[in-house]
Amino acid sequence: MKVAVIGTGYVGLVVGAGLAETGNIVTCVDINEERIAGLKDGNLPIFEPGLATIVRRNFDSGRLRFTRETVKTVSDSLIIFLAVPTPMDEDGSADLRHVLDAARQVAKGINEFKVIVNKSTVPVGTAAKVKQLIASITDKPFAVVSNPEFLKEGNAVTDFLKPDRVVIGCDNDKAEEIIRELYQPFVRTGHPILTMSPLSAELTKYAANALLATKISFINELAILCDKVGADINEVRQGVGTDSRIGSSFLFPGMGFGGSCFPKDLRALNFTALQNKVELQVVQAVIKANDHQKKYIPQKISQHFNGNITGLNFAVWGLSFKANTDDIRESPAMLLIDFLLAEGAIVNVYDPQALAAVREKYQDRLIYHSNVYDTVANADALVIATEWNEFRHPDFEKILHSMYQPVVFDGRNLFSSNAMKALGFAYYSIGQAP
Ligand code: NAD
Repeated sequence: MKVAVIGTGYVGLVVGAGLAETGNIVTCVDINEERIAGLKDGNLPIFEPGLATIVRRNFDSGRLRFTRETVKTVSDSLIIFLAVPTPMDEDGSADLRHVLDAARQVAKGINEFKVIVNKSTVPVGTAAKVKQLIASITDKPFAVVSNPEFLKEGNAVTDFLKPDRVVIGCDNDKAEEIIRELYQPFVRTGHPILTMSPLSAELTKYAANALLATKISFINELAILCDKVGADINEVRQGVGTDSRIGSSFLFPGMGFGGSCFPKDLRALNFTALQNKVELQVVQAVIKANDHQKKYIPQKISQHFNGNITGLNFAVWGLSFKANTDDIRESPAMLLIDFLLAEGAIVNVYDPQALAAVREKYQDRLIYHSNVYDTVANADALVIATEWNEFRHPDFEKILHSMYQPVVFDGRNLFSSNAMKALGFAYYSIGQAP
């Protein structure tokens, strides 16, 4: 089938490459000139494990193309995915500007029946809004489908190619049949394609993110309690996670959830609820708990250094909001850096993939390093903010002797308290027994 994907970010590029992988002819469109030029030269604008390989393979075979021309691409395609950003507006609602701009462009290219598929995470009612907007521009036939995306950055390619389920929100039989056929190769092992109303599909995406964020905030709060009472959050986590009704995923305590989805999606869901005079008290509590969690490591740092870190040398390992991505949007590491800079510390940073994005944000206010050991040289403290695998087994002796003060604040519980203390570090983590 001929497919257009509007937006070549973390979702659009994975969707485009994933659909090309199953034989479709896919054209990815972006308004960002630099991005499209780079993609045509074989340079990916983002880091996502496994993505470069499938982009290259499908580009070389001619099944995956890149362009800035929306209108012509729409005319040449049967299915048009919208995978543009829906950032948080000032009032917490989802900003639909990019979705509506893209829809306006798409409308101009409709020459015969098209299926317009919304992949962006959008508030309930947006499919209807998009339909109305396009119908105000063209009288050619089209259908709007809501098809939320559940991939996680860091595992996006596998998540897209092997989804737990595909949700299709649709009220047009012909469009539903086309999208079902498109997804058949991805659900051959029996994972379901769930069809529902566009309203339910839109709400399903927010509900899934809110529930996952709730698990994270729940375990984060329990970890703080463990710190107070001397219990160990790893033992508690295993004790509850092995209950099949609960499950073990999303139960790892940390510095608070970040990224381009959970923070904005929870606020957008809360906004929609309040607009409809419904109090989502659990969601509100999760937002509050997460804001609190982000301050936990900074508080431990202040306490250890008696409220004065001016002029101290800090090393920060990990800057992306989680491992295996270069995405720093809403990363707790950014809040940590802001805190350290505001308190007058000197901040040395390292991340396997996110350095370029951080350099663009902070310019010469930080000292950038290309490996873990240079980052900790003469440091008064090390803070681990992201759980990259390469941080898990460092040469501790080397670190101990190269730091000025052997103090570690582990925001991801990578190491054992006992082992770190036995090595001679002052070691702070989140909820691990002393
Ligand atoms: P992104 O910021 O990485 O990429 C969006 C791309 O769209 C950019 O390249 C931008 O230049 C382009 N764009 C913006 N307006 C355009 C237009 N009018 N025409 C063509 N291109 C345009 O965004 P993302 O992280 O891929 O997220 C896209 C949507 O998917 C959001 O609604 C997000 O909430 C949702 N989502 C994201 C994830 C994730 O893990 N990132 C997962 C599921 C759903």
